[in-house]
Amino acid sequence: MSPTVAEIHLSALRHNLTEVMHRVGTAAVLAVVKANAYGHGAIHVSKTLLAAGVRRLGVATVAEGMELREAGINAPVLVMGGVFPEELPNLLEHHLTPVLPSLDAVRALASAVNQRSAPLPVHLKVDTGMRRLGLSPEEVRELFGSVWPRALHLEGVMSHLASADDEDTDATERQLKMFRELLDDLKLLGTSVPIAHVANSAGILRFSGSHFDMVRPGLMLYGYSPSQLCTPDLHPVLAWKTRVVQIKAVGAGQPVSYGGTFVTARPTKLAILPVGYADGYHRALSNCGRVLIGGQPAPVVGRVCMDLTMVDVTDHPPVHPGDEVVLLGRQGTATITADDLAACLNTISYEVLSGIGRRVVRVYRED
Ligand SMILES: *Cc1c(COP(=O)(O)O)cnc(C)c1O
Repeated sequence: MSPTVAEIHLSALRHNLTEVMHRVGTAAVLAVVKANAYGHGAIHVSKTLLAAGVRRLGVATVAEGMELREAGINAPVLVMGGVFPEELPNLLEHHLTPVLPSLDAVRALASAVNQRSAPLPVHLKVDTGMRRLGLSPEEVRELFGSVWPRALHLEGVMSHLASADDEDTDATERQLKMFRELLDDLKLLGTSVPIAHVANSAGILRFSGSHFDMVRPGLMLYGYSPSQLCTPDLHPVLAWKTRVVQIKAVGAGQPVSYGGTFVTARPTKLAILPVGYADGYHRALSNCGRVLIGGQPAPVVGRVCMDLTMVDVTDHPPVHPGDEVVLLGRQGTATITADDLAACLNTISYEVLSGIGRRVVRVYRED
């Protein structure tokens, strides 16, 4: 058994899904499982969520969609990150649903699938203010003012919110207004849009007017809020743990780890942990992060190495090799959250979770 594991608590995942469903009423839920389900393991997470009432899954790339299909998952899978021409055979063979972000993408796909018997379901991405992927609303109107390719079935129209986690709600209201006006115009043109969808976690939590026919939660499902402005009842799904590999007593005045960026001020007991930046325990946690041992925080001292990290346990009751160390999660009454680590790293919980490395074995727990 690997010393460093990420325990994935499936009951917490189900709880968070219930919280999403409770907030969105009749809107369907597309669970966003890109980036290996934000580091939680796309296959187990997808199977658990589908069994609990999720209708669709969302990934970023064709390869991520193929991984779900190869695991026997048959639910609709939306590929949200754009598709390159050479990926089309895989997309079609695995019955993945593309998001089309440009007029060129619509044309290219229409000619590539011309020979098929049943029209291919697609979703159109509209840029209402994110300035990332998507057609402008004018391009969408143009598209439906002319002839829509018969090889494609318009199953959905989507957009993405840029600032739904901000205190200032104006930008989001502008995006939603632009999206609603586009839907109204499409209706007038006689185009039916079976599934309109916009909301990410922040949209779900803060803008009930963003729910439309379907919502696309990612972060919320994994138990974190995208914004300090709301405190939904969510349970973190992932606990990241390792074990002490060695205890070392050093005298005062001794430099620790590469570059000696930490020098002991007193006789010090160090616990050496078999985890490092190659596992996603980022080097920027050097002299900043803390872990839990015996339910008490222990600060990271010196630089985090590729495979090893030192923490100071001088003030702890005796610590022994093999003792459990919590990098992320709860131990006793103490907790370290992805937001805590993100604060050290000057980033967001999303990056902490999705950055947990491949070497960390995922263990699935029902409790
Ligand atoms: C990642 C992603 C989401 C999920 O966002 P969260 O903030 O994690 O809920 C939704 N929609 C799109 C297009 C995405 O890329």
